[in-house]
Amino acid sequence: MMGVPQPLAGRHALVTGGGRGIGAAIARQLLSLGAHVTITGRDVARVTAAAAEWGDRAAGIKMDVTDPGSIEAGIKGASDHFGPIAILINNAGIAKAAPFAKTDLALWEDILRTDLTGAFLCAQAVLPGMLGLGWGRVVNVASTAGLTGLAYCTAYCAAKHGLIGLTRALAMELASKKVTVNAVCPGYTDTDIARETIANIVAKTGRSPEEALAGLVAGNPQKRLIAPEEVAEAVAWLCLPGSGSMTGQSIAVAGGELM
Ligand code: NDP
Repeated sequence: MMGVPQPLAGRHALVTGGGRGIGAAIARQLLSLGAHVTITGRDVARVTAAAAEWGDRAAGIKMDVTDPGSIEAGIKGASDHFGPIAILINNAGIAKAAPFAKTDLALWEDILRTDLTGAFLCAQAVLPGMLGLGWGRVVNVASTAGLTGLAYCTAYCAAKHGLIGLTRALAMELASKKVTVNAVCPGYTDTDIARETIANIVAKTGRSPEEALAGLVAGNPQKRLIAPEEVAEAVAWLCLPGSGSMTGQSIAVAGGELM
């Protein structure tokens, strides 16, 4: 009987925010393709428990992407354990909505620091290892909010547009180095972020959860939330050896919401 293909065997992937939601789905997908996978998050109990469940090609470490010292220590620890990181998935992110007039500097900085600066710092920390390997994949989990404007989301849209700008510029800079840099842009996806958004709409508008969900998915022609596994499929494909000509792209995984 033929074995399952393991095109990422021998590659070490690091998934920020890999303990739950989209990040956990990406980690599981990369493991199924043969990679060694380190997942990171602030909640160390969650990431170590998830990794323990997934077997000895998975490891969980504490890493806060808003803290440069934590990133440096995390990348060093992960590289010492499974070798240099060949695949970086910048997935960690937060989403908080607020009308522009109520978007204070603290909210703005919180989102920019996590969703944009965190990806910058992680990419910078892993790049020497990728250049040493002569091969690398960076996939940034942006959002449809990185490709278009959304009301009440100025900070989040600014961060995700910035992440796409970072993706494009770094892809150009690394084009001759066999390191590709891409973004995936999910629409509303069935994770804690979507659940919190629905709870927020219910609390602020008095709508029912069903009405709030219908409002969220109204812009998606398929009228449904995206499954985390669907985002993971797109991310994993960008990491495959055969995807080397894909770079600088921002791929919407959103049921046709953007074309
Ligand atoms: P979740 O809230 O389920 O997961 C967010 C993850 O990010 C958690 O694992 C969390 O881990 C981690 N994280 C948050 N802040 C930090 C930090 N400072 N340092 C390290 N890790 C951090 O959300 P999703 O899975 O939905 O989101 C994943 C990505 O997908 C985000 O970038 C989000 O913007 C993006 N996205 C989500 C969409 C959706 O509708 N769900 C749509 C479009 C994009 P911990 O708490 O342990 O730190």
